[in-house]
Amino acid sequence: MLTKQNIMEAQVRIAPYIHPTPLLTSCQLNARCGNMIYLKSEHLQKTGAFKIRGAANKITQAVADGANYVTAASSGNHGQAVAYIAQALGIKAKIVVPEDASACKVGAIEGYNSTVEKCGYLSSDRIPRAKAIAEAENGVFIPPYDDPLIMAGQGTIGLEILQQLDNIDAVIVPIGGGGLISGIATAIKESNPAIKVIGVEPVSANDTYLSLQNGAITAIAGTTTIADGLRTIQPGDCTFPIVQKYVDEIVLVSEEEIKEAFTFVLERMKQLIEPSSATVIAACMFNKLPSEGKNIVAVISGGNVDMADLSKIIKI
Ligand SMILES: *Cc1c(COP(=O)(O)O)cnc(C)c1O
Repeated sequence: MLTKQNIMEAQVRIAPYIHPTPLLTSCQLNARCGNMIYLKSEHLQKTGAFKIRGAANKITQAVADGANYVTAASSGNHGQAVAYIAQALGIKAKIVVPEDASACKVGAIEGYNSTVEKCGYLSSDRIPRAKAIAEAENGVFIPPYDDPLIMAGQGTIGLEILQQLDNIDAVIVPIGGGGLISGIATAIKESNPAIKVIGVEPVSANDTYLSLQNGAITAIAGTTTIADGLRTIQPGDCTFPIVQKYVDEIVLVSEEEIKEAFTFVLERMKQLIEPSSATVIAACMFNKLPSEGKNIVAVISGGNVDMADLSKIIKI
């Protein structure tokens, strides 16, 4: 199982490739929530999301083991992160995206000099294709979350938070496949078990919530939540045991709450965060947290929003 030691090693390994990100605060947000909220600002990370941390940890190791080619199956933040790190390390990458991937996302990946291949509409089409290409080309497939090196990379956010702030009561983290929260929870709980780690999912993407209730990995049929980074339909085999061990609680937020939180942060804090990250602010704004007057770190996982979608997200 993942340990804090793995995450400390990742922190050293990925330092040349990432920005340490600030903790932002807002008096208006604190007043609205009744807690002190610190936004761990991974929307200001290189490539606009935290996924570069896991990708850097995994791909530097693959290169050390002799790899010179990587593949991934994602049009979103993971695809951009793999493309960026492959370019930084001087190796080739191919990113498999859905047929309907937006031109702006494909452009971002190609801008990092990766090649893009379109394949089907579902991750069940893309993942086997990306794995097959890796095998044929003697390369390495880079998974988005269910891998100890990816989880260790994401966990470096937890170490950074502990280095930046004392007297933390809780850390709130959005959950897709669970790579982000399992890494952060390991770093936090193995440093200070008194700090609560709280997960957030959209009501319509509550697979990890249900899995915890059932005591076993449980899949949902599918979801169209506006929080597109959280649309995974079940937690991972590597991530779920850590969620079971270390996550104190999972809270659920509605689509309307996500939009309101997104709009509040944009209007009052002038920060463009993505809906997947607005979930944690929604949890703070709509009283989903156990108590008041606490120091709460909200992990803002990314800020990549297609400008064509902006009017659908803003709630006035
Ligand atoms: C990938 C992603 C998540 C979810 O991370 P997991 O490791 O899959 O749980 C949350 N927010 C953003 C912006 C993401 O890109």
